[in-house]
Amino acid sequence: MNSTEIWFTGLLEEHGVALSPLQLEQFQTYYELLVEWNEKMNLTGITEREAVYEKHFYDSVTLSFFVKMDQASSLADIGSGAGFPSIPLKICFPHLRVTIVDSLNKRIQFLQHVVQALKLEQVQCVHGRAEDIARLAPHRDAYDIVTARAVARLSGLNELCLPFVSDGGVFAAMKGADPADEVNEAKRSMTELKAKLTSIEHLKLPFEQSDRHILLMKKNGATPAKYPRKAGLPLKQPIL
Ligand code: SAM
Repeated sequence: MNSTEIWFTGLLEEHGVALSPLQLEQFQTYYELLVEWNEKMNLTGITEREAVYEKHFYDSVTLSFFVKMDQASSLADIGSGAGFPSIPLKICFPHLRVTIVDSLNKRIQFLQHVVQALKLEQVQCVHGRAEDIARLAPHRDAYDIVTARAVARLSGLNELCLPFVSDGGVFAAMKGADPADEVNEAKRSMTELKAKLTSIEHLKLPFEQSDRHILLMKKNGATPAKYPRKAGLPLKQPIL
């Protein structure tokens, strides 16, 4: 193990996430592909190994400190970009059936390559806008956990993500420093989309020490027929 892998496995183990040599190798291959493909397309501004493991891999897995992954069977990641948080979560919790949605086809092609190279099973990479994909029966009100990191302000994000969550399921919005204003602004969108804020979890990245917040919402009921509205509208004219 190199020094990055030593702290990475150690910190995850403290939270009950034990990584096998195969899982560590999957993270290593993912890191190499990220750096390689990043030269041809814009995937991430972070390429140094330690920083990728901390700010992308570890940050993604922190969701499992607050949401019990072993009690879930399906997860959808909306606006996954280069695969965060869904690919690190899938590596750590291989039992999950994962759907990745992104509106940029190049990123979906990268993720399809990652899924093959890492031999991940039951991962579907869907190219399209969340507003359109959430209207398709297999995806609507269908997932135990829905995630989104760094996609949009919560008032608009709720309309992109909550329609994917099953009745009783969880939407986890992964946010940075201080989400209080966003949360206040998003109250009406939560009510309209049948969700209730259940907790705001706080953590710090282990070395950089920057603050992260995970907003957890529980869905109670089916998505009303009028949502999501036409593609583009949720972010342009959020429910306020
Ligand atoms: N979640 C990743 C992360 O944390 O690194 C990527 C964040 S990136 C800033 C936002 C991603 O959301 C982009 O890949 C973009 O293509 C995607 N996106 C934006 N609006 C979307 C929409 N309406 N439907 C699906 N994907 C969308």
